[in-house]
Amino acid sequence: MKTKGNDVSDSVTVRLLEIYERLFAHYGDRRWWPADTAEEVIIGAILVQNVAWKNVERAITQLRAKGWLTLAALREAAAGDIEECIVSTLYYRMKARKLKAFAAMVHEEFGGDANLLLALPADDLRARLLGVWGVGPETADDMVLYAARQPSFVVDAYTRRIFFRLGVTRENATYDELRDFFMRHLPVDVGLYNQYHALIDALGHALCLSRRPRCGECPLRSLCPSCAAQPVGGE
Ligand code: SF4
Repeated sequence: MKTKGNDVSDSVTVRLLEIYERLFAHYGDRRWWPADTAEEVIIGAILVQNVAWKNVERAITQLRAKGWLTLAALREAAAGDIEECIVSTLYYRMKARKLKAFAAMVHEEFGGDANLLLALPADDLRARLLGVWGVGPETADDMVLYAARQPSFVVDAYTRRIFFRLGVTRENATYDELRDFFMRHLPVDVGLYNQYHALIDALGHALCLSRRPRCGECPLRSLCPSCAAQPVGGE
């Protein structure tokens, strides 16, 4: 198996894959992203900016009830009405504007067919997404990976914290440096990227907390130089 720039015998690759295997053994298939359509992924990727997924679930339920879980419907809907549905995502005025801006771009440049946008080659797609107002690198990578099902590793605050604590990456690495690091050392595999990001989020949400991480329950504790737990027998 080959990665983008290295054979899997690369020691960093071996380490990243061991972390992945331990997380997968602990958490199993995360079945991420929870959405029925690619457009629903796009909408969710904007709504989840700076909030937890549970905030988004309520908004998705409200949008679904109105029949507004498509970009065409959001383009037609009044911003104020969208805001009422997505209050739970906190930055709802800004996010309603972002949703409408994205829907307008798809309408104007792709005749309203998001599949034409998502069919662009991964690098072109990512560059195009980053040109849309309100879409930053994490949101763009969410869309490339989970809506277009093309390879792009998603980096978030959990990724940054966990891999710094594991001694794998630098604390002040930029988004692009972290993304490039994972894509250079992991096999180019959409399924792996999909599952790995979801597993990182599961660990960051439940155990590798910003303050007082629950290292005693962590499947990575024997690999982690930052582990705050007492050694477990035999490890
Ligand atoms: S052992 Fe502790 S610090 Fe290390 S990854 Fe697990 S929870 Fe985070």
